[in-house]
Amino acid sequence: MRERFAPSPTGLLHLGHAFSALTAWDCAQQSGAEFLLRIEDIDTQRSQPKFEVAIVDDLHWLGLDWQEAPVRQSERLDVYNSYLNTLIKNNICYPCRCSRHDIKEALRAPQESSADRGAQKSIYPGTCQQRYMSERTVGDAVRLNMKSAIDRLGGPRKIEKLGYWEGAGPRKWVPLRANNLLYHFGDVVLARKDIGTSYHLAVVVDDFDQQISHVTRGEDMSSSTAIHVLLQALLEFSTPIYRHHRLIRDENGQRLAKRDDARAIAKFRAQGVSPKGIRDLVGL
Ligand code: GLU
Repeated sequence: MRERFAPSPTGLLHLGHAFSALTAWDCAQQSGAEFLLRIEDIDTQRSQPKFEVAIVDDLHWLGLDWQEAPVRQSERLDVYNSYLNTLIKNNICYPCRCSRHDIKEALRAPQESSADRGAQKSIYPGTCQQRYMSERTVGDAVRLNMKSAIDRLGGPRKIEKLGYWEGAGPRKWVPLRANNLLYHFGDVVLARKDIGTSYHLAVVVDDFDQQISHVTRGEDMSSSTAIHVLLQALLEFSTPIYRHHRLIRDENGQRLAKRDDARAIAKFRAQGVSPKGIRDLVGL
């Protein structure tokens, strides 16, 4: 059994991350699973080496440890690209040159096919759907054609046989829903034009390559899990058991953000709070 904690080094760890890391760590300890650290630094605009150093230091201070050297996503872009090519070969992808602005405009305009898309107004409107991968140029992202992906897996009925086990104690089976994938996510980006991959593709490839059997992460990630399970099926990967934990919120009920330095672990450390004190603060 293998668990992982996968922070993005875009800021200092705060109480929410500490809760997530400690929850994954405790689960690993209770089940005798190995624990791994993965640095999710593909967001080259926001990731900084100094935050990686601070994250490692805070995690060690909290009492966490890992046997294997941490994997850095920025060093694995060629691996993600080779799996992207597998998906491309399955004829379920297309190149997309739309900017955020183009997409906003297209969503504002009345769509011929809007009836087919149900009530969902924020998913990609399919402007580039008819383009072929052979037309891909440097400034293009790559999108998954969600309908073709579902068809490749046998269609909407078949897809509902896919899903994942959720939970730490008694487990619940969560089936994939074609309607959810089509109308909630639509044609998600698999490769951004700047980095050649995306969070969804990278996390699925890494969890597979690192043989992660249990994924513990915040409930803000739980909707993405459906996309991950779909990609796992398309790439013929096994699906881990998922546990989506509660989020640590501020006094206004907002989820803590990286910029929320008031709740940074470093700040508590400087004030003399102990690792046990951090556990108390997050209710562990
Ligand atoms: N890198 C993500 C984050 O820091 C977590 C991804 C995951 O656990 O799947 O929010």
